[in-house]
Amino acid sequence: MRKIDLTSFQVATSETARDINRRIVLDMIRTRQPVSRADLARLSGLQRSTISVITEQLIEEQWITEGAFGYLPRGRKPRFLHLNVERAGIIGINVRPTSTMIALADLNARFIAQESFPTAAEPQVFLKDLCQRVSDFIKLRPQAFYEGIGVSLPGRVDRLSQRLVFAPNLGWRDVDLKKPLERATGLSVEIENAANACALAEIWFGQRTNGVRDLIAVTVSEGIGTGIIANGQLVNGSTGVAGEFGHVSINEDGPPCKCGNRGCWEVYASNSAAIRAYMQATASSRAKKARPAQSSGKPTFEDVLRLAEQGDDKAAEALERMAHYLGVGISMLITGIAPSLIVLVGEVTRAWERVGPIVNQVIAERSPTVPMTRIVPAEDAAQPRLRGTIALVLQKHFGAPSTA
Ligand SMILES: [Zn+2]
Repeated sequence: MRKIDLTSFQVATSETARDINRRIVLDMIRTRQPVSRADLARLSGLQRSTISVITEQLIEEQWITEGAFGYLPRGRKPRFLHLNVERAGIIGINVRPTSTMIALADLNARFIAQESFPTAAEPQVFLKDLCQRVSDFIKLRPQAFYEGIGVSLPGRVDRLSQRLVFAPNLGWRDVDLKKPLERATGLSVEIENAANACALAEIWFGQRTNGVRDLIAVTVSEGIGTGIIANGQLVNGSTGVAGEFGHVSINEDGPPCKCGNRGCWEVYASNSAAIRAYMQATASSRAKKARPAQSSGKPTFEDVLRLAEQGDDKAAEALERMAHYLGVGISMLITGIAPSLIVLVGEVTRAWERVGPIVNQVIAERSPTVPMTRIVPAEDAAQPRLRGTIALVLQKHFGAPSTA
């Protein structure tokens, strides 16, 4: 039960009750579609007449449409309701240090169009480029009705000001993407940290989250992010930047991190950490054998994955070391928060057959509550970061109201 905030509340009116019922019915249609009005009444416990009023309004506002007739042995045939995918129009933007993706999704979070472009290193250059590209993207599809824009960023986002506070792997500090994007497009823009976006994607669209109210998404890429959902809601903390477990130090004498700390979890368990471990191992073996470097240029994480797959011992060791430290950090999350589900997002999940058993082994050794928590790799193909940006916009209409 949530304590009522007596410094910021809104008393319930008949309007509040209507709004809540409308959100329940809308989300019920989303998750049960195609569904008849009779089924909605039965599932919700609301009167048939109330369901009729709500669904008429939702049809009028183009959130839902009537589809095929159902079959009944006698009496009036029910008309099935589903989300209006013709209304298609949420724009998702996923910013990563190397490239940025712009996508258009329908209300079922199915992607209709996507395009990507290189992320400029300088935030103002990037922002100008982004605004131009999103405006062009919208102009190309004038028939779509756009409900809003969701943006996922690899860094801390202040929930109140909606500004990017700090993105260590981009080197950006205090950047406002919201206002320029809103000015350029005339649409409302929601900004969120990538790990939080992944957690939202899982709770809104995940196949495994039926009935799950507490979960953590761990994004493993250049750095490590964690998005925490407690009782169906993102945990923001007092400043809105909670969940930065990637920058919790697990060794105060460890190597320096881009955030200014030493020995952060991500220094040991991110893609960058595996690349570093691999490079160190190959450098020392080259020195021992007094052999000249075979290739110049830094390997990518994809290279490390591929080499490990091909039987390269050093690449396999680097990956196994990363897996060990993923286990160390995840067991900290399990012990501290005890979620029902932890979803791992990132390229490392492609090597789950090698990585998964090590992660689970470390967790089994370290966490007293492990049987309660399922650990699952997210499917890369599902594009969780991008789907999370769609959830950001969707939850404003389909989620519980956030007053009182
Ligand atoms: Zn750090």
